[in-house]
Amino acid sequence: MKEAKFYENKGDYVICKLCPHNCKIKNGSTGICKVRKNIDGVLYSTNYEKITSIGLDPIEKKPLYHFYPGTKIFSIGSFGCNFRCDYCQNYEIVEGEALAIDLSIEKIIQLEEETNSIGMAFTYNEPTIFYEMVEDLAKEMRNRGKKNVLVTNGFINKEPLTHLLPLIDAMNIDLKAMSDDFYKKICKGKLDPVLETIKLSATKTHVEVTTLLIDEYNTSEEEIERLSYFLSNIDKDIVLHFSRYFPKHKMNNPATNLSTLTKAKEIAKKHLNYVYIGNVFGFDNSTYCPYCNSKLIDRNFKTQIVGIEKNRCSHCGQEIPIIY
Ligand code: SF4
Repeated sequence: MKEAKFYENKGDYVICKLCPHNCKIKNGSTGICKVRKNIDGVLYSTNYEKITSIGLDPIEKKPLYHFYPGTKIFSIGSFGCNFRCDYCQNYEIVEGEALAIDLSIEKIIQLEEETNSIGMAFTYNEPTIFYEMVEDLAKEMRNRGKKNVLVTNGFINKEPLTHLLPLIDAMNIDLKAMSDDFYKKICKGKLDPVLETIKLSATKTHVEVTTLLIDEYNTSEEEIERLSYFLSNIDKDIVLHFSRYFPKHKMNNPATNLSTLTKAKEIAKKHLNYVYIGNVFGFDNSTYCPYCNSKLIDRNFKTQIVGIEKNRCSHCGQEIPIIY
């Protein structure tokens, strides 16, 4: 355990100010995320140095398609979440306190150094609620010239986000829907803080966005249009990943129709330069130049940069915003 950041002692209780739930937590209790605990007026992060999952993943799996394509990243997760999505794809990990093992910051760094990773991804469960561990590891990684990646639901207050962003090289942020109703009913969260996180983060670091599409929940043409329009107002080059939903946890609806994914991509491409479809085989996820349509990155068998030279399309010379 480590003392948590961003809280206020109010005598009978503390207020956690890490995420927009702003939980009032009595002595001996935890907040909604179940990992920040008030012990005698001090708020602790109980998942500090507790690890449920470790892997060396292709960066494309985060998913990040425009950030060091073709490389691998050492990835870790702990337990807990500040959302309760009915379709949570990782609930075994999120609720997996019993599965966690103790690993010190030094040991995690040592494990990363034994790999050919470009850095560390904080992922698998919601990393913002193991904020203190992310911060300590990210500082170590930065000192070693390595990259830090955050894969997050974006439900974090502005102050902690602003404080963390200088350490983060890339983020994948979930934008689960464009409806507050969806966030409230299906995820037990709120939409607006996520939109604010995307807007702020995109001005400070590399951001890609993922939307898991669930037929009849967040797939209307109007909603896809609004989502893409929102992102394009931040930056037309922001990368959007549509991901295929499969039944999991408490949700039994059938897997997303392939035609829904195709249609969503078609709509989003009217607003955004780079849209991909993930979590399913059979779609061409190579990157094409938005100006001359030449292939820039081939992702058919293995990821290879085939048409970019000095950050420009080798065919038409247009600048291509890909970090590699
Ligand atoms: S991080 Fe956890 S304890 Fe803090 S406000 Fe969010 S849900 Fe509540």
